[in-house]
Amino acid sequence: MPLDVSPNALMDSFGRSVSYLRLSVTDRCDLRCTYCMPEKMRFLPKTEVLSLQDLARLSYIFIHRGVRKLRITGGEPLVRRDVMDLFRDMSRHLQSGALDELTLTTNGTQLALHAEALAACGVKRVNVSLDTLDADRYRKVTRLGDIGMVLAGIEAAQAAGLKVKLNAVASKGAFEDEIDALICFAHGRGMDLTLIEEMPLGETGLDRSKSVLSLRDLQTDLARRWTMTPVHRNTGGPARYMAVAETGGQLGLISPMSCNFCALCNRVRLDCTGRLYTCMGDEGSVDLRPALDQSYRATVLAIRHAIAAKPERHKFDMSRMVAPAVKRHMSVLGG
Ligand code: SAM
Ligand code: SF4
Repeated sequence: MPLDVSPNALMDSFGRSVSYLRLSVTDRCDLRCTYCMPEKMRFLPKTEVLSLQDLARLSYIFIHRGVRKLRITGGEPLVRRDVMDLFRDMSRHLQSGALDELTLTTNGTQLALHAEALAACGVKRVNVSLDTLDADRYRKVTRLGDIGMVLAGIEAAQAAGLKVKLNAVASKGAFEDEIDALICFAHGRGMDLTLIEEMPLGETGLDRSKSVLSLRDLQTDLARRWTMTPVHRNTGGPARYMAVAETGGQLGLISPMSCNFCALCNRVRLDCTGRLYTCMGDEGSVDLRPALDQSYRATVLAIRHAIAAKPERHKFDMSRMVAPAVKRHMSVLGG
């Protein structure tokens, strides 16, 4: 089948072209981060989760219709059994030139086991989530995690030649005391660091209004100690980047709650059951499974239909931090 290279291959009604797919391969996770899910999280029954073969088929259709960048995420993607088969499958599209980039977002706990295989599949960059360098605080935030495994994962990834970026969810309190150390740690090891503002996705059993930290406020505070200059990076994503003169590294700031980043949005998200979400901050989704069972053509039509209805902007609102703006947890779609 010839590649669909028409400029409006997957175009929404606001003229935004979709070239980036984030694929969540599982909603399950080996951690229970406090801002992400409750301690007693109920995961999807395994019967509802698509096989890796079906997820590969769906990904292929997106790639065929103009998606150039694919990020594998979760839940924790590396806890899904045989997930490396999917990476191997997708690496064929890198080799053929149909895909520009294959990446991963992970909590890093299993990264040491998979780093070399990921590099062999053509993965060049991975995002690792790490909110603290303090082992006790890490355990507290993740409820289950051992920071040693994440640090070993980061080391293994770098040894395998992968470029690592750290993601940290900003929060009030200890995080503010530790942010300078986190910047030094990341930049000192050649990693960029991106700070994420907590989003009101799903019930966690905790009051988010007590933990959410505005990145605007944090940036003002950081500017008292660090020389930060805005850097233009055309990623189509929500992050703003700052070059930090003292370290030579870059600091990304993702503030969906306080900034409007929707005008340039080039991405859609697929969950592990085959549901397509065209906006992280909207409840709307379309089940692609019936179309996938029918035919390639039916699936393309369903995708086009969903993308045509992509909302103009998300509906997050700082004043609604007391209740989830969206019922689904972040682990359904990943970051
Ligand atoms: N388990 C993997 C990980 O932690 O990197 C991938 C999925 S996780 C849901 C993706 C990213 O979302 C992580 O960087 C995590 O810190 C972030 N995250 C989770 N819940 C969030 C929330 N409510 N608001 C903002 N970011 C959140
Ligand atoms: Fe798991 Fe990632 Fe959610 Fe933490 S943020 S509980 S690692 S899915």
